[in-house]
Amino acid sequence: MSDLARFARLGIRTEADLLLHLPLRYEDETRIVPIGDISPGATCQVAGVVCRNEIVVRPRRMLQVDIEDATGAITLRFLNFYGSQVSQLAVGRRVRALGEVRGGLFGLEMVHPRYRILSGETPTADLPKVLTPVYPTVAGIGQAELRRTILSALARAAWEDTLAPGCAQRLGLPELMASLRWLHQPPPDAPLSAIEDRSHPACRRLAFEELLAQQLSLRRARAARALQQAQPLSDQRLVERLMANLPFQLTGAQQRAWSEVSRDLSGNEPMNRLLQGDVGSGKTVIAALAAMQAIGSGRQAALMAPTEILAEQHHRKLLAWLEPLGVRVAWLAGSLSAAAKKRVRAAAGQAEVDLLVGTHALVEDSVDLPALGLAIVDEQHRFGVAQRLALRATRGDVLPHQLMMSATPIPRTLAMSYYADLDVSVIDELPPGRTPVVTKLVTEGRRAEVVERVRAAVSAGRQAYWVCPLIEESEALELQTAMDTHEALSAELQGLSVGLVHGRLPAAEKAATMAAFIAGEVQVLVATTVIEVGVDVPNASFMVIEHAERFGLAQLHQLRGRVGRGTAESVCVLLYRTPLSPLARERLRTMYETTDGFEIARRDLQLRGPGEFLGARQSGLSLLRFADLERDEDLVEAARTEASVMLQGPPERVDAHLARWLSGREEFLKA
Ligand code: ADP
Ligand code: MG
Repeated sequence: MSDLARFARLGIRTEADLLLHLPLRYEDETRIVPIGDISPGATCQVAGVVCRNEIVVRPRRMLQVDIEDATGAITLRFLNFYGSQVSQLAVGRRVRALGEVRGGLFGLEMVHPRYRILSGETPTADLPKVLTPVYPTVAGIGQAELRRTILSALARAAWEDTLAPGCAQRLGLPELMASLRWLHQPPPDAPLSAIEDRSHPACRRLAFEELLAQQLSLRRARAARALQQAQPLSDQRLVERLMANLPFQLTGAQQRAWSEVSRDLSGNEPMNRLLQGDVGSGKTVIAALAAMQAIGSGRQAALMAPTEILAEQHHRKLLAWLEPLGVRVAWLAGSLSAAAKKRVRAAAGQAEVDLLVGTHALVEDSVDLPALGLAIVDEQHRFGVAQRLALRATRGDVLPHQLMMSATPIPRTLAMSYYADLDVSVIDELPPGRTPVVTKLVTEGRRAEVVERVRAAVSAGRQAYWVCPLIEESEALELQTAMDTHEALSAELQGLSVGLVHGRLPAAEKAATMAAFIAGEVQVLVATTVIEVGVDVPNASFMVIEHAERFGLAQLHQLRGRVGRGTAESVCVLLYRTPLSPLARERLRTMYETTDGFEIARRDLQLRGPGEFLGARQSGLSLLRFADLERDEDLVEAARTEASVMLQGPPERVDAHLARWLSGREEFLKA
């Protein structure tokens, strides 16, 4: 394998990649520790004279070499060794050895230390002046080779600072080259803990550079988009009529979000806005108003949702709101018959449909919406980039406006960094009259009591969800469990009507069961996570989640968001089985302690990192390597400000910064 191919396996393709391949840890070869001073657990370097050299068999053959200095002795143990080593380490030889010290049966020892035979020189002759870096590596690339390659790259490199003049001083950050040299070769007295927790200024410099590259790249993508044309959509007549018909007033937060969306739609730059708000904060009505502004202005609108249950529910709600206004709403999903699909496609193609609601069938069934002015994507993180782009593909020479919605609140730092290419509106207030959900943690052993509580809730005129355990390994098993649970609960709750929905149910049956639940005919709904997103039945105020310890935080929060939508006091019982893993315990504790989606999102980010949030949005490749959103929050802010400054300045500087940090990776950041 060529050197290039070998290094590519480490993700190293350019000289910049080499310089940015940072050590995992360091070893201290700069000093020699008296053997009498060392203790088990430490990694250190000793020097002494060989006083024993013996091959023992216990039970395998191994080489044991004892060395001593004026203060004590230590055993070097080699489980695999060459004959040449036996003579190399002959009694009387002087040796320097570095390794982790262990407390063996017969005193201190090092297993497979790195060692070197000393000839005439004193033990401290030619000791390195800096700490020795230990790099992450793969089989086939040894530390010595990696060190040599990186150090020579470091000696050659003369990176010019790409930051605007004065920026680094203002932020108290050291120079870039100095930071890199320091990290690859720290002085013996370097504060290792500050490197480990990355609070050292040299680490912060790299984190800042990386965050800046992210900002620059996303902001450039955004600027490029702003140059494209969209049709300005500003007619307010349908908006006003819908507003007048709504059974409620918009909350202050909804009003703010709506005015931002409405303003974007009126402009001739394509809107690219993310609407985020906690579950139940009322995002759907904003989508409906946006559709009214588009349709009132003579264009078509499309709304795409990730599951059929959710799309169907949007369809039902929008139909009820919009049909009285004479708006033609149509529905398209994979489960429609071929003939029905064909009819919808034909009508949409003739612009006889104003608003098309559906699943990814909207982009997969090559539906033509000739007058599309607005594409709305609910639960945006569940769609891949390609699907979202396909929905708002250019029509003629204009780009439709795009509104994305996210029910999983995105922590502020994440929104500021990874989403810097989007405008974000936040609905940070729930509609009035909601009673907070009371969350109870109950062990599996008390399941029977919980069943009785469900019965009591139904007697009081309420409805309940019973969420079946998540079985990640096997969909078939999950399905089986759902059916078993349904059967068991039907028996335990005799006299009540118990329904079942799961992902494999034929769409018509699923829709019928959901309709019966909405109408109150089904009192207890046994469900898999298909109800996770968007289902809205205000009278359902009791929820049980079985094996809650298996679910992720975002999922638990979404599920719990299905209750607490009416005025009745709502309860969510998290049934769990012991023993709990520390992570599961932390998740359940969070659910118990707070119902605030933003707080839950923040803790989720801490527990799992950003990868999970971004979902299909980005590949792992584009995740930040040096910066940590939580730890470096101040740098995220600073990078935003600095990016604005740099984008005003010479473009070559921006190009140089991006080339250094994102060579080849930039593609992934732009989605
Ligand atoms: P989500 O943000 O989770 O998508 P929805 O749009 O489904 O939330 O709204 C949740 C429920 O709150 C729906 O029944 C909706 O009709 C209702 N709702 C939305 N806005 C208001 C409001 N301002 N006042 C009262 N109820 C509202
Ligand atoms: Mg919703």
